[in-house]
Formats: sequence, structure tokens, C-alpha cells
Amino acid sequence: MKFYSTNRQSAAVSFKEAVIKSLPADKGLYFPEEVPELDYLFLETLDHYSLPEIGMEVLRQYTKEDIPEAKLSEILHDALDFEIPVKEVEKNIHTLELFHGPTYAFKDVGARFLARCLGFFNETENKEVTILVATSGDTGGAVASGFYNVPGVNVVILYPSGKVSDLQEKQLTTLGGNIKALEVDGDFDACQAMVKRAFLDDDLNAKLNLSSANSINIARWLPQSIYFFEAYRQLKDKKKVVFAVPSGNYGNITAGMLAKKMGLDIHRFIAASNANDTVPRYLQDGNYNVKPTVATVSNAMDVSDPSNHPRMLELHDKEFKDIIKHTEGFTLTDEQTLQVMKDCYNSNGYITDPHGAIGYQALKEKLQKKETGVFLETAHYCKFLSTVEKALEKEIPLPEFVSDLMTKEKVATKLKNDYEDFKEYLLT
Ligand SMILES: *Cc1c(COP(=O)(O)O)cnc(C)c1O
Repeated sequence: MKFYSTNRQSAAVSFKEAVIKSLPADKGLYFPEEVPELDYLFLETLDHYSLPEIGMEVLRQYTKEDIPEAKLSEILHDALDFEIPVKEVEKNIHTLELFHGPTYAFKDVGARFLARCLGFFNETENKEVTILVATSGDTGGAVASGFYNVPGVNVVILYPSGKVSDLQEKQLTTLGGNIKALEVDGDFDACQAMVKRAFLDDDLNAKLNLSSANSINIARWLPQSIYFFEAYRQLKDKKKVVFAVPSGNYGNITAGMLAKKMGLDIHRFIAASNANDTVPRYLQDGNYNVKPTVATVSNAMDVSDPSNHPRMLELHDKEFKDIIKHTEGFTLTDEQTLQVMKDCYNSNGYITDPHGAIGYQALKEKLQKKETGVFLETAHYCKFLSTVEKALEKEIPLPEFVSDLMTKEKVATKLKNDYEDFKEYLLT
């Protein structure tokens, strides 16, 4: 299987090259030349498969020329060694808890898979790789944890100063070793812009072997399809399944669209966003109109120009009318989000994080008769504890599993929002 660039200028490459390069030179995104339709029998007998086995079926055709089956199986068993349960929160509304991995957010899935792929490719390459990653909160922690102590790999994480939660910052800045954190005086889009520019910088590419771990990397994106199958497998009622996906860079929801294209019987999607609502507005009238990013309580979704939008187009042969056939947008303000968190807790006893809450409410308002709703609970609420306490108007104890982390010392280098400074940092 080859992967082409969504901008159609750069040459198509193998899975391995797409993973290592991350971004084609023409600034598009890599996309598989074909989307394989999965075996009917597999889809009918999902129940017989474990999570890593589902992963094998979903991914093997994309990776088969570059990763032997036995190795892929080993990678998947290792990367997906935690559960991804579906729970009913209230009638017809289910949560897909994606936070049972080491950094308590869905990004563990893609980051752990990518780290193991790169580790495998690196065994035969013998060159040090520098991973650059911009994070609005959760990516950095997942990547840091996924790559920690992977031989031959250095990780540089850029995060917006003051715009990530305390726990997130601890996850980014306390591992040490091969993980370096840069605290940038700017927002997430500024961090992302610097990283994108670095990849296209000839000086840097001549001296460093750069790679990316953002959701634009194909090895982050593809495995996210797996848990849509896993969710579907667990649902008792599989009629007209609707996924509400809290969205920022739109990696998660487009991975769901890929799952649908591979044959999973998903009825439709709701793109749930905060005030950074470029895509919900786009879904209304077809105009993709980027406004400045605003800071919200669901900060992992503070993205105004989602990098996976080209993949959404690609999945629908660039036909807007096909996108809106099974996708609608939904937006909440911060005030509404806090109210929803409180209401959900009071009526169901279920604590949502501020991202999942928007997905939950999207189903409350948009689910139609005979539909079965699943919202993606993209992170554990403890990552946003101060917001949760504000919403629920009470003190919530920090779960024991994170209290150790909070006592560790932060180590980060401060950086101005200036590309030349960033470049100098990388070169010295
Ligand atoms: C990254 C993240 C999102 C947004 O996911 P995308 O794939 O970028 O759309 C939502 N919620 C949480 C908690 C996240 O960490």
C-alpha cells in the first residue's frame, strides 16, 4: 500500500516512509491509496476478537509491506494493553472511555503505536530521530510517555505557556531523559506553525533526522480507527450508531470516518466543538473560514484550523454533500459546557471531562429516535480537575494514581514565539 499526499504534488511513499517523513514536502497530508473494505465475516463476528486482534484486521493491509504480521501483532499487543470500555451513561447514551492508558487520554493509542513503529524502523536504520511535537495539552503527554526511553529517539515537545492544565504540564515536563519540553509564549497554533515550518526547513533537515508525532502522522491517525470497531463490538444495540466526537485537530473523527469507509456500520457522526467552531460552521454552508483561536475550558480542542480537514475531504472524494450526509456539527460555549458537566453528574453520577461533556450534550440534543449514541470520553476528568470542581461546585479528590506525578518537579525551557529561536534551540 502506498500513501499519497492530499496536495497531489509530492510522490506517493510506503507506510514506513510516510511514518518517518510525517509530512510530505508539498504540505499535504499522507493518505492511503486505497481504503480496504474489511471482510464481511470479520465485521459479523467482531465479538470473537480482542482489541489487539481487531487492530490487526484494521491495520494489516496498510502496513503489510513494511511490518511483518508477527511484528505488527507484537506492536499492537504492547501498545493496546489497556481496556477501552463502553458504558451506558443514560438511556441510549454511551461513553467510550478512551482514558485507561498511561496518560489518561485517547492519544495514548496513536502515540504508543507510532512509538513502537518508529522503534521498529529504527532498529534497522541506526540513525537518531528527533521527534517534534506541538501540543495543546494531551498529545505531548501521550508522546512523552509513548517514547520515553525508546532507543535512538529524542523528543522535543512545544506547548503553549499557561494554556495546559497542571496535570498535563507535569506529564510533559517531568520525565526527563530523551524527552525535552519547550514552554512557548504563544497559543497552540503558534506551536504547530513552528513545527510545520521546521519540517520544511532545509538547514534543519540536513542536520537532523526530523519526524513528527502529531495527529498528522499516519501512524497516529490510522490506529484511532480501531476503537470505533471496539466500541461497536461492545454495544448491545447496534442499530443506527451515532458517534459524537469532541474535536480539535479532527484526527479522531476522521479516523472514525475511515472506519466507516472500511465497512463498519456507523450511521453518522457529530463533530462536537467548543468556541473554535471552524468545522461546525463549515458543515453549515461549505465555507471553511478560519478565525483566531480562543482559549476555552476544553483546551485540547482550542484549534481553529484543524490539520486533518484535508483528510475529511479526501474520505469523501472532496464532495461536501457527501460529508454532510452523515456528519453534523455541534458547538458549546464554556458556560454551557460547565452546566452540562454539572447536569450529567447530577442526573447520572458520571463525571465527564470538559471535552467529553460536549460530546455528551451533542447526543442529548441531536440524537434522533431509534439511534444509539456513543460519545468519546477523550480524557479522564482528573486532567481537568479545577474545571470539574468549578462545574460541579464541590471538591473532587485527585485520584490516587496521579498524586505521585503532581509532586514531581517541572523542567521546561522557555521559548518566545519566534521561529529563529526555535531553530537555534534545535541546532545547539
Ligand atoms: C486531542 C484531544 C481532543 C481533540 O482530538 P482531535 O483528534 O485533535 O480532534 C479532544 N479531547 C481531548 C481530551 C484531547 O486530548
